[in-house]
Amino acid sequence: MLSIRTEPRAHAAPRRISVLGATGSVGESTLDLIGRNAASYRVVALTGGRNASRLAELAIRHRAQLAVISDEHCYAELCAALAGTGIETASGNEALLDAAERPADWIMAAIVGVAGLQPTLRAVRQGTCTALANKECLVSAGAIFMAEVARHSTTLLPVDSEHSAALQVMRGAAPDEIEKVYLTASGGPFRSWTREAMAEARIEQALQHPNWSMGRKVTLDSATLMNKGLELLEAHHLFSLAPEQLDVLIHPQSMVHCLVYYRDGSVLAQMSCPDMRTPIAYSLAWPERMDVPTKRLDLAEAGTLTFEAPDPERFPALRLARQTLSAGRSAGTVFNAANEVAGEAFFEERIGFLAIVALVEATMDIAADLTALTPASVDDVLAIDAEARQRALSLLPRFASRR
Ligand code: NDP
Repeated sequence: MLSIRTEPRAHAAPRRISVLGATGSVGESTLDLIGRNAASYRVVALTGGRNASRLAELAIRHRAQLAVISDEHCYAELCAALAGTGIETASGNEALLDAAERPADWIMAAIVGVAGLQPTLRAVRQGTCTALANKECLVSAGAIFMAEVARHSTTLLPVDSEHSAALQVMRGAAPDEIEKVYLTASGGPFRSWTREAMAEARIEQALQHPNWSMGRKVTLDSATLMNKGLELLEAHHLFSLAPEQLDVLIHPQSMVHCLVYYRDGSVLAQMSCPDMRTPIAYSLAWPERMDVPTKRLDLAEAGTLTFEAPDPERFPALRLARQTLSAGRSAGTVFNAANEVAGEAFFEERIGFLAIVALVEATMDIAADLTALTPASVDDVLAIDAEARQRALSLLPRFASRR
């Protein structure tokens, strides 16, 4: 079970906050909450990947000390936009790591993909509080990541709505009281589509999430159900739950985020309207609660909440995720890397929608030597990730015509 400090926070000084991935969907939602109570926070560092103009706007609005753009080609634009403001600027990988290490009391880790692994680890090593949106860190490097969390006594708070929900309903529970945890999934835009229809799915259709407004990778992952597969691995590492204690339920309304079955037959669930500001606020206010201006759940208006088992034939991603979970070692690293390659290939229109999961599976098949490795360090994880990407890329031509 995730072991985290729960003593009340001292309220005297403004809390020092950094947001890694500030220009993204989670980053923007985080800064929306910060901006509503600006006197309580001091923004230390904001980082972006390429969107220099938005990063500059956010840095000015939130009076950040430092703005870092990871892509060096975008640095001139950032400098021009922040000239005369007194806000420090930097760019590149090292600068991103420096931003993550700049002393802060609470750091949002919301860079997308395994690109977020090293910055997030630097944040974790501060030994303060890391709010974790970047699930790929745990999927790819779960054991090493959680060992660093323990080593630095860091308060790690999940931001994914299902994992935040799990934390809320398991708070204070002893590990042996928990029987099973169900993560819910909306089912995505293709929940009721046939495989034949999905084979023809276009990018804009895959990006039409029925309930959540999110960045494009996680939205695509939701359409394939890879997102829920990644979340199974994330929950396994976060809460030390065995594979058989984890399952997925399709819940198209996205109002119940997680159900926890206790050993006495009780089932506790967490509910809220689908708005990321609620789980983000839970991590920001931890161990207390804060006011959040989201739409309140109206169950009379909702009328009916429905649940169904996922269809393994139409959505094989969950089966693959389960195999990955059982395989352990470096299977998660390969699974994640192949999924990142496959998703990008879909966005580049090199492969069709169904080929995304097929490519991940084929990569796992030819990478048994990699999945069997036990990484001893983050460098090992990144080397395995790089090799898995090469293998996935080498398979692309095989899937290119399957549209
Ligand atoms: P977005 O794509 O909206 O934002 C990603 C952020 O990461 C942006 O700030 C982007 O910068 C930055 N970024 C991208 N690539 C790099 C890189 N190579 N180096 C440094 N920074 C980079 O993603 P989301 O906010 O949707 O998701 C972020 C993470 O949170 C993901 O892991 C996702 O799975 C997870 N998550 C998201 C949820 C959501 O509601 N969005 C819900 C639950 C989890 P820029 O835009 O400037 O290029």
